[in-house]
Amino acid sequence: MTETVIPFDNSYARLPAPFFTRVEPTAVEAPVLIAFNRPLAEELGLDAAMLEREGAAYFSGNRLLPGAEPLAMAYAGHQFGHFVPLLGDGRAILLGEVIDRLGRRRDIQLKGGGPTPYSRRGDGRAALGPVLREYLVSEAMHALGLPTTRALAAVVTGEPVYREEVLPGAVLTRVAASHLRVGTFQHFAARGDEAALRQLTDYAIARHYPELQDDPVPALALLKAVAERQAFLIARWLSIGFIHGVMNTDNFSISGETIDFGPCAFLDAYDPEKVFSSIDRGGRYAYQNQPAIGQWNLARLAEALLPLLGPDESSAVDAANAVIADYGHRFQHHWSAAMRAKIGLDGADNPEDLELVRDLLGLMQAQAADFTLTFRSLAKAIGESGEHDMLTLFKDAEPVTAWLARWRARLGRDGRAAADRAAAMQAVNPAFIPRNHRIEQAIAAAQAEADFSLFEALRTVLAHPYEDQPALARFAEPPGAGEEVLRTFCGT
Ligand code: AMP
Ligand code: MG
Repeated sequence: MTETVIPFDNSYARLPAPFFTRVEPTAVEAPVLIAFNRPLAEELGLDAAMLEREGAAYFSGNRLLPGAEPLAMAYAGHQFGHFVPLLGDGRAILLGEVIDRLGRRRDIQLKGGGPTPYSRRGDGRAALGPVLREYLVSEAMHALGLPTTRALAAVVTGEPVYREEVLPGAVLTRVAASHLRVGTFQHFAARGDEAALRQLTDYAIARHYPELQDDPVPALALLKAVAERQAFLIARWLSIGFIHGVMNTDNFSISGETIDFGPCAFLDAYDPEKVFSSIDRGGRYAYQNQPAIGQWNLARLAEALLPLLGPDESSAVDAANAVIADYGHRFQHHWSAAMRAKIGLDGADNPEDLELVRDLLGLMQAQAADFTLTFRSLAKAIGESGEHDMLTLFKDAEPVTAWLARWRARLGRDGRAAADRAAAMQAVNPAFIPRNHRIEQAIAAAQAEADFSLFEALRTVLAHPYEDQPALARFAEPPGAGEEVLRTFCGT
């Protein structure tokens, strides 16, 4: 094999000792490459042809990419509200950072690469099912246009992992703007290590918010910037019906990307109280709680940064509270913009438009209408003759017809051409989302018979979620009787 040059530049590995522990991936028995994201590899400046041939060795951790400096990151986290001062990468190993073709710094990480000093009682491994779910859902999120970590590759290890049952082991190679999270800050705050906190703040700003580098109070500027990105992200989650499932502070990214696709799921029928995660018994991370949890997590970041937020404690607390309160306005702003766009309204925000949004959601909830299909069918219903598809999604058409009449009256007042409006609506209302029942079917076939055909079909259709793909229309459909997934299980 010829050594290929990989543009690694591992800035995190240059931070001092308490930030991480160096650890090599543990080799596996018989790795097989089951998915490789060639366009992403090219974007990262990797040798895609070589990785297509030899990816099994590299993406299992059996062989290290030249220039990688593997390590496990240290971090803390509030898990379901309970603080754990040291979690860390228990089954993820950061290989390093590359500067991609657009000059962006990106982490490459193996998830499931073997035990680390932070594994506690865990085996450091991942099962095939969660690896496939993260691959499909993270790539779907990207295609949907949301900030998210990406999936570069998946391998099966040829080794079993022992959960409630024996499952095939797998490794996901994940790409992220970084793996800095609220929990990283909490870790150093809990240790009372103000120097490390300061260094981490500078590092996070340099990496994600370089425009803030000269701010007089960098930590406060960082807190505001994270508030803005998270408000935007969570508004966009709601707009596509996404439930993250484990919004613990260790899964809350400083860069504002969606990270850690464990028991995540998309809504089928609209139900704001929906929870899929088998471990979320209290509904803490239910669909409609996500904005408030975002605020709660932000408050935890503010607490961690407190010593850096102002000249004395009381001004620091005031500054933090102002940012936390402002997050609510930011979220409202982004949510309103996203939801108004879904019903074909742009221009200045006004209360009547939001009432239309809320009333439609109310009808969908009352009649358990499919979230994605309702919004997708709405563009066609701009003219009365096209409303049939939408009405079939509701058991009782009458209130929907009345809503449509109100909506059309509103559309008539902004004079936008119907074709333009319809095109804009189709560009924000996907036809295809990663439906839970399809993901479960893909996982079941892969686990039972190493049949990856459904996984492949989903990768294909979800790469273009806003395009009608008539030959693949079956993947747009909600679950039939008996197909509905009630619970998804955590990725551990
Ligand atoms: P997660 O729920 O995936 O965000 O993980 C929460 C914490 O548990 C992180 O510190 C993980 O590294 C750790 N963890 C999860 N699964 C395992 C495993 N199989 N082995 C070791 N650590 C794990
Ligand atoms: Mg996590």
